[in-house]
Amino acid sequence: MSIAVTPHPPPAHSSPHSLSNPHSLSFLLHQRPPLSIIHQLHAHTITSTNPQNPTSTSLYNSLLRAYSRSPSPLTTFSLYNYMLTNGTPLDHYTLPFVITACSFLSSLPHGLQLHGCAMKLGLFSDLYVQTTLLNMYASCSTMDCACQLFDRMEQRDLVSYNAMIAQLARAGLPKMALEIFREMVSNRLVNPDGATMVGVLLACAQVGSVKLGMWVHGYLAKIGGFDSNVVLSNALVDMYAKCGDAISARKVFDKMNTRDGVSWNTMISGYSKNGCFLETLDLFREMLRERVRVDEVTIVGVLSACSQLGALELGDWIHTYMEKHKLKYNVIVCTSLIKMYAKCGNIDKAYEIFSGLPCKDALVWNAMIGAFAMHGHACKALSLFEEMHASDVRPTPVTFVGVLCACSHGGLVNEGRKYMHDMVNKHGIKPNIKHYGCIVDLLGRAGLLDEAQKLVESMPIEPDAVLLGALLSACKVHGNVELGEKVGKRVLELDPHNSGNYVLLSGIYARSGRWEDAAEVRKMMNDNGVKKQPGLSRIEVDNVVHVFSMADWSHPMSEDIYSKVDEMVERLKLAGHEPNTNVVLIDVEEDEKEQLLGLHSEKLALAFGLISVKDSQPIRIVKNLRVCDDCHSAIKLVSKIYSREIIVRDRLRFHHFREGQCSCGDYW
Ligand code: ZN
Ligand code: ZN
Repeated sequence: MSIAVTPHPPPAHSSPHSLSNPHSLSFLLHQRPPLSIIHQLHAHTITSTNPQNPTSTSLYNSLLRAYSRSPSPLTTFSLYNYMLTNGTPLDHYTLPFVITACSFLSSLPHGLQLHGCAMKLGLFSDLYVQTTLLNMYASCSTMDCACQLFDRMEQRDLVSYNAMIAQLARAGLPKMALEIFREMVSNRLVNPDGATMVGVLLACAQVGSVKLGMWVHGYLAKIGGFDSNVVLSNALVDMYAKCGDAISARKVFDKMNTRDGVSWNTMISGYSKNGCFLETLDLFREMLRERVRVDEVTIVGVLSACSQLGALELGDWIHTYMEKHKLKYNVIVCTSLIKMYAKCGNIDKAYEIFSGLPCKDALVWNAMIGAFAMHGHACKALSLFEEMHASDVRPTPVTFVGVLCACSHGGLVNEGRKYMHDMVNKHGIKPNIKHYGCIVDLLGRAGLLDEAQKLVESMPIEPDAVLLGALLSACKVHGNVELGEKVGKRVLELDPHNSGNYVLLSGIYARSGRWEDAAEVRKMMNDNGVKKQPGLSRIEVDNVVHVFSMADWSHPMSEDIYSKVDEMVERLKLAGHEPNTNVVLIDVEEDEKEQLLGLHSEKLALAFGLISVKDSQPIRIVKNLRVCDDCHSAIKLVSKIYSREIIVRDRLRFHHFREGQCSCGDYW
């Protein structure tokens, strides 16, 4: 299948003779020579031109074409002007090359001028000229002009359809792209080709329409031969991944006859964005085995998976790999590294990367402020914000999410109010739902439930389930059944599929002994087909990530792990730890509750960590939900009894346990 992305240029004349022959010059210019060679050929053309007999237009066209694709597209314009003053006749190939240079430079004024020239010279009716103008308008971000031009075209061919579909998809107008595609198919004037489908798949990916994407896949399968078309297969992988179907994406990936770097990167970031973090790392290892070149895009995808898994050793290894292979440290890569180190619990290393960056943009500052906030280092986050301010980097809405989150995790109520005020009045940033969420969380944690409720009622945007969930959680912590009931019902209406809110509300009832209401909420959860999200804890040992669920016996070392748990529970009791059975929401006998507590996934991961992690190293655990009160106080004591540093990341933040204390100050 052929791919026609750009209009076909005039055919090259393949007669490599001496430079005095214009054909051999054209041939040389078609080989994409470096800029210095183009200059030489250009000079040669001009000096050898007889003023009485202007050089053939086709030779100038070849020069224009070479310049328009070179690192110096601006020269195309001066050469074009030279042709005009020199009286060289123009043909319908001349203008498109100059227009293409406008596309590369995104220069609308030049483009408009050329559009006028095309009209004046009577070349506008040429389809090739029209299509390059269309691409030019799209590249200059004037999609409406491109659409107008397309609408007015009296005749359309495959190339003009492909250009329009691809440009609309690239401009983030996927629905319009699909509309044009439907028109193209229903007119039956031209048959779509591979390039059409690349544009259509890009549009499907943006709309998230796996159904249409599958239709395209079927269509391609019927024509056959796309397995060996890398660009098209990559677009299919990307479409499936972006529509949330990582399994189908992998199937296409596996069937590809040849893969390029883009194929691997698309699949790796596709896995990572779909939450298939272990698969991301497996595929990355395969990529290394097959010696495919790793670039910055690969690194960002893999680092994101490491962050989610808390795979610090692998993240560290990638950092070293980057240094060894001299990969570029651009802002995006550095931001990913900062986030990875922070999310894997090594905040010092995150700060080291941050400090080492000579030019920091808002993204980098935001990442570091957010990192300090997540680790509960409220003061550091706030002083970093002041530093950002002093270095004249304008804060963004995300910056303030970090700042307010720091206040919330640090219990800094007055500071939080002040920063929210400054954000609006000093920085002119309108608060969004996340900012309100942080403030409600801040007030709720501090027990200022009335103020939180008033804020929710008076804010100009509708509260979302996340915000109300935070308030609900505060109601549970502070034992406010009345408000909890009200907020709980509202949040369940807004988001009936989130198990966490059912658990919170039934917990609020259970805590005040309203077992029947608690049971009613659990029944509602069942009726709505919502499953409680299972608690998972991960721990990385020697580059391997081990995952534990509650009462999990799947680990090969389960025997040892469970005897370590027994030992832990015994030593905890001796140290005076009383299991907090309040956190078990099921209506069961006390000793049974105690047993369930002992089998929480983080305790299994902790027992495994005590066995497998070297004494000199901290034990790092990543939990997908909030750590329960009982595990929190148990881990505090374990850090003292076993003299171990334990770092736990839960759904929202970090807990650094050392010598019987936690960095969160029991405020989480
Ligand atoms: Zn627990
Ligand atoms: Zn803590």
